[in-house]
Amino acid sequence: MSEVCFEKVEKRFGEHVAVRGIDLLVRPGEFVTLLGPSGCGKTTCLRMLAGFIAPTSGRIVMGGRDITALPPYRRNTGMVFQSYALFPHRTVADNIGFGLKVRRLPRAECTTRINEALRLVHLEQLAGRYPGQLSGGQRQRVALARAVVIRPEVLLLDEPLAALDLKLREELQVEIKRIQSELGITTLFVTHDQGEALSMSDRVAVMHDGRIVQIDSPEALYERPGSRYVANFVGRTNLLDVVVREKLGGGMVRVETDGAGKASFVAAAAHLKVAIGARCLLGVRPEHFHLGGGRANAIQVKVRGATYLGSVRYVDTEASDGRSFAVQVRPGEPAPARGEVVVISWRPESCFLLEE
Ligand code: ATP
Repeated sequence: MSEVCFEKVEKRFGEHVAVRGIDLLVRPGEFVTLLGPSGCGKTTCLRMLAGFIAPTSGRIVMGGRDITALPPYRRNTGMVFQSYALFPHRTVADNIGFGLKVRRLPRAECTTRINEALRLVHLEQLAGRYPGQLSGGQRQRVALARAVVIRPEVLLLDEPLAALDLKLREELQVEIKRIQSELGITTLFVTHDQGEALSMSDRVAVMHDGRIVQIDSPEALYERPGSRYVANFVGRTNLLDVVVREKLGGGMVRVETDGAGKASFVAAAAHLKVAIGARCLLGVRPEHFHLGGGRANAIQVKVRGATYLGSVRYVDTEASDGRSFAVQVRPGEPAPARGEVVVISWRPESCFLLEE
């Protein structure tokens, strides 16, 4: 198990700065995900770690060794891409064994390791097939087996599930996580899918425009996003611009909405040192709204419509000042009709406050 460390790593492509001085520590055996929209620099980070491209400045250290200047074949990394990149004219077993052959391992050792890898990804029955005779999910299992069979210090996964349909993606998320924890291998995963990042990772690094803007556990990222960007990117959320008006004790503050309307709410702010008059964002996740009164914070809204998603339903509502709120309705709970005026309420502890 190896630690990976990016130290002030920057990458420029001509005038364009793709990665802007990143510091990142992936602990031994940890599963860390780089999450962000297209073009934010995730793949560039992964490719620098694999050695396919060199940083413009900064250092990359793996297992205590400075690898910044090492060519890819001298770094002990295993990589899986979105496109499976399998050899079409080689069987599953030969594809998996390719890296072992290149490393000139004895034949018996190769066979043992290939069989182990086949078992790990549940493809024992398909060892003699060719990639063209496999489904997308099976091909990605082969790619995964090929990456881990060389026993890399670090596993690099670049959107490995992006080409698969939702059901298969969810199955393979569980599989990859199982294999990763069984092998205890340090893993850096790249995705733009926040659900995937939250469900698989020990920690998620949210990237924006070449920078890591927050790195935290999935729970912390979701419950206490540190910025408007993260709050919007990770999960669905309702954000209100507010001003802190009063400290209430017990870590609570009273805030007032900015602009017209001046509604007043109570929010937990023990984690922030906010001053009276500070401008903040108040965030409420759709699942924390309760239809009807009964919670300390309440607001009257008009129902504009609803979106049914099977396990949940989102009711889209609008307050008198035009602000919109998405409210999640639990299964079995009746959703109010379009045009109906209702009160929605929420607890001070179940919203988050962040300073802009
Ligand atoms: P995606 O999810 O679309 O793959 P990403 O977050 O992985 O996006 P990168 O592939 O790391 O993004 O690219 C970051 C930026 O660097 C982009 O603006 C991209 O156009 C640019 N870039 C990447 N590779 C090169 C290259 N070889 N030459 C020039 N610009 C590049």
